[in-house]
Amino acid sequence: LVSRENHGERSVVRVGGVPIGPGTMTLIAGPCAVESPEQTLQAALMARAAGATLLRGGAFKPRTSPYAFQGLGEAGLRILADVRAETGMPIVTEVVDAGDVELVASYADMLQIGTRNAQNFALLQAAGEAGRPVMLKRGMNGTIEEWLMAAEYVAQRGNLDIVLCERGIRTFERATRNTLDISAVPVAQRLSHLPVIVDPSHSGGSRDLVLPLTRAAIAVGADGVIIDVHPHPETALCDGPQALVDGDLRELAKVVRDLPPLV
Ligand code: PEP
Repeated sequence: LVSRENHGERSVVRVGGVPIGPGTMTLIAGPCAVESPEQTLQAALMARAAGATLLRGGAFKPRTSPYAFQGLGEAGLRILADVRAETGMPIVTEVVDAGDVELVASYADMLQIGTRNAQNFALLQAAGEAGRPVMLKRGMNGTIEEWLMAAEYVAQRGNLDIVLCERGIRTFERATRNTLDISAVPVAQRLSHLPVIVDPSHSGGSRDLVLPLTRAAIAVGADGVIIDVHPHPETALCDGPQALVDGDLRELAKVVRDLPPLV
């Protein structure tokens, strides 16, 4: 279902009316985690002012440590919905449990499946039945074929509105949080008709890498990027060191606008 060979043309996926696919370089930005109404609104206003057309933000956070901030859950979803009403930005947010898919889909414009759930087949199937576009991150230990097969689990349930997201893989290299597999973008676009975007924030894990990795994503023809921003990264409850502040985001957005995407 997701193979390019069977489908031909590359697909465009629309999220609340915003297109992601060939000919686009969609900028998705927002906080890693929804922490409060003020923090989420400030991050969204930064994102919108810079030109981002979709708002990201996690209400359910899959953290390595059970002692780390786990997200606000449904209260976070309500904050996202309020911020959408105020800014007009459609929402991309993660769902971590098959039992929460209906709840998250009742607020979200796009469901995000994170790297740690890339082979959670019950979750993938539930997301495929939720009636919302799905952004599917590549498993940090997953091959491109495993990633595409994960997409196949979603598609099999009747949902072909899937966007693949390369977010870095686990290698021997520890200088970056993950190794951005930039070649995965053209390979996945060759093998699948689905749009492919890049997450330079979670791959590099560091603010100074976000712009260079975004340039790389544009250069290889990614259909979009998803970027962490925070009004006060030093106080962020999740992944502050990789969050961009206002000026950084505007500079990045200019690069996204000025470098024409490959079609
Ligand atoms: C995220 O985007 O909030 C996230 C946790 O990403 P990943 O699943 O790629 O680690």
